[in-house]
Amino acid sequence: MQPEDIQLRLDRAQQGLRARGLDALLVTPGPDLRYLVGYDAVPLERLTCLVIPAQGQIRMVVPRLEEPAARASHAGGANIEIHTWGELDDPFALTARLVGSVSRIAVDDRMWAEKVLNLRGAMHGVEQVAGGLVMRELRQRKGPDEIAHLLEAGAAIDRVHAQVPGLLRAGRTEHEVARDIAELIIVEGHVSVDFVIVAAGPNGASPHHEASDRVLVAGEPIVIDIGGTMPSGYTSDETRMYCIGEPPADFATYYEVLFAAQAAAVTHVRPGVTCESIDAVARGVITDAGYGDYFVHRTGHGIGMETHEHPYIVAGNTLALEPGMAFSIEPGIYLPGRHGARIEDIIICGDEGAVVVNHRPRELVIA
Ligand code: ZN
Ligand code: ZN
Ligand code: ZN
Repeated sequence: MQPEDIQLRLDRAQQGLRARGLDALLVTPGPDLRYLVGYDAVPLERLTCLVIPAQGQIRMVVPRLEEPAARASHAGGANIEIHTWGELDDPFALTARLVGSVSRIAVDDRMWAEKVLNLRGAMHGVEQVAGGLVMRELRQRKGPDEIAHLLEAGAAIDRVHAQVPGLLRAGRTEHEVARDIAELIIVEGHVSVDFVIVAAGPNGASPHHEASDRVLVAGEPIVIDIGGTMPSGYTSDETRMYCIGEPPADFATYYEVLFAAQAAAVTHVRPGVTCESIDAVARGVITDAGYGDYFVHRTGHGIGMETHEHPYIVAGNTLALEPGMAFSIEPGIYLPGRHGARIEDIIICGDEGAVVVNHRPRELVIA
């Protein structure tokens, strides 16, 4: 991140505050802090807090022992005043002094309750609101550098999926396969493994089943949904379906429906269409085929520095897509007690339509 990128994001945050009649935004370590000023601080008990007033100088409260780390980060090169505090000082009183006399402030959505409550105690009578209202406006529309990071993350997780067939053998457990996949997620360029879902047979009917000691057997469909975080801070998330040998006939029937639903939703993406209409397209195909009751979750979620962020692709979300918005399209069909399936790609809304981030074949992979 260049100092001018940071300045642009901070300016936009200040505009967002003024547009909502908020006096300040307080941001502790987490994705918002990393997004705004490029400081990837670990959330700990000592208070680090970026103080963004609706206008004027931006400051950051930093524990003295973390000052070198803060100055070495991108935040150190930006126009941000750093105020340090020692082990015996009260950082909440310091933050309150820097915020000054105000009536309504926003706190970042991921701030620990402990910090929220201590800040409330230090600023009597000041109303606190969720900072996500301001931050989502900034974060949900990705710039060219962010799109490049998402494409890079997508390519990395594609390379992991490409190696999955070689890991699937009857007699291995979901856990064993998941361990190998976790290793590959790192080998292929991620710095952390965020989740590894390996769900065979009936486990595949539970959308968020992770992995268990279930032994893989031939003829059982396997849901594999994996993702991690890249050195850039941007995340990957991709689901593909596998089977050792041929799947059961009932599975093959609904997999065709799911495939068509996912493709139709991707084709529907273009600037101006609403998030809920993308959900409706996927759900319509599945419902028309008689499987509507088995598609038990929304169609997708935004993605960026967090795997789940705005915009959500769900009924009721009337937000119109704009170029640069990035999200998953991942319909699923889950037959309790039998098996399930999901196909997931990350999509970026481009000027003409969907830019598809993931490129592994979406057909069932016979391992
Ligand atoms: Zn999920
Ligand atoms: Zn996923
Ligand atoms: Zn997802």
